[in-house]
Amino acid sequence: MSTTFNPPTRVLMGPGPSDAHPRVLQAMARPLIGHLDPEFIRLMDEVKQMIQDTLYTSNHLTFVVSAPGSAGMETCLVNLLEPGDECIICINGVFGTRMADIASRCGATVHKIETEWGKITEPDQVRAALKVCPKPKLLALVHAETSTGALQPIREISDLVHEAGSLLVVDAVTSYGGVRLHMDEWGIDALYSGSQKCLSAPPGLSPVSFSPAAVKALENRKTKVQSWFLDLTMVKNYWEGSRRAYHHTAPVSAIYALHEALALVIEEGIEHRWDRHHEVHLLLKGQLESLGFRYLVEEDYRLPNLNSVFLPEGVDEAVLRQRLLHEYNIEVGGGLGAFAGKIWRIGLMGESCTPNHVHMLTGALRALLP
Ligand SMILES: *Cc1c(COP(=O)(O)O)cnc(C)c1O
Repeated sequence: MSTTFNPPTRVLMGPGPSDAHPRVLQAMARPLIGHLDPEFIRLMDEVKQMIQDTLYTSNHLTFVVSAPGSAGMETCLVNLLEPGDECIICINGVFGTRMADIASRCGATVHKIETEWGKITEPDQVRAALKVCPKPKLLALVHAETSTGALQPIREISDLVHEAGSLLVVDAVTSYGGVRLHMDEWGIDALYSGSQKCLSAPPGLSPVSFSPAAVKALENRKTKVQSWFLDLTMVKNYWEGSRRAYHHTAPVSAIYALHEALALVIEEGIEHRWDRHHEVHLLLKGQLESLGFRYLVEEDYRLPNLNSVFLPEGVDEAVLRQRLLHEYNIEVGGGLGAFAGKIWRIGLMGESCTPNHVHMLTGALRALLP
């Protein structure tokens, strides 16, 4: 047994984590300071400001959950739902399924809008669900469904949700930093994301943001939030205000890394970053199609940063994926659920979204394909 773990140098083109910029990796090697040190509090405030700027939100309650995207999902739902509430969850892949599971564990009655995987939820389906459940506490949907590669349009559904007097909860784990996202303009009331997808920071952190209406719903709760760790009434005193109260010990080094990753997003410009993801996606698409790959999702609502594709006829996807990893050090994702063994999920996220990545992958595929 060796005393040091030396990971291989991989090219990360799966559904996350994505490659991290050297500046982000170096940030994690900086000296530790106390998590209530005034300098760390200043860093937390800067992280919060950078998240507000890049989500286009002025929400005060914007911070980072010290746990991965799944905990961000749980934070939104356990704080906004309590026993007896009704909610509508849009399901068109793995992550919508998980939201419905969490919502039912909160004691809420869950009305599901189920759509074929790879497709999007249509506003008419939401209208129909609102006939059955006219005033849900919230409607939740996944902006970028990483299990299928579908990009969900939000604005029209947002209007329907607000006309019903309900809150809109959005999973932006894969969309934040990769595709157009305007939290306030689009009327999103609660949003969670993840550090390791298009932000290209290490996994394990979840940026979240809550609108004033969501904060009001939280204040009007009749019961305690079932989770102690994720209860916002306590966590917010750790991330807000002049007197910070100990709640838990923030992952100091990981926050250094997220700060550096957000600084890179801001240096690039969030809109330029969206454009880059679109352009590199077009480059990959042209090359994959010429190699015989076929996209799962219709062009109009295809994610640029998560390319879900059927392989050319007669190719064993698992064998090819293993060879890419072992012979070329390139990671791509396999399919989930009904698509296991049938599709690949190729990520072009953040630092992994460059023409060079496309050339590395397609060069390797040209050598490996029969
Ligand atoms: C990755 C992902 C999550 C979960 O994030 P983790 O950091 O793996 O917990 C949730 N939703 C979507 C859409 C994702 O892609």
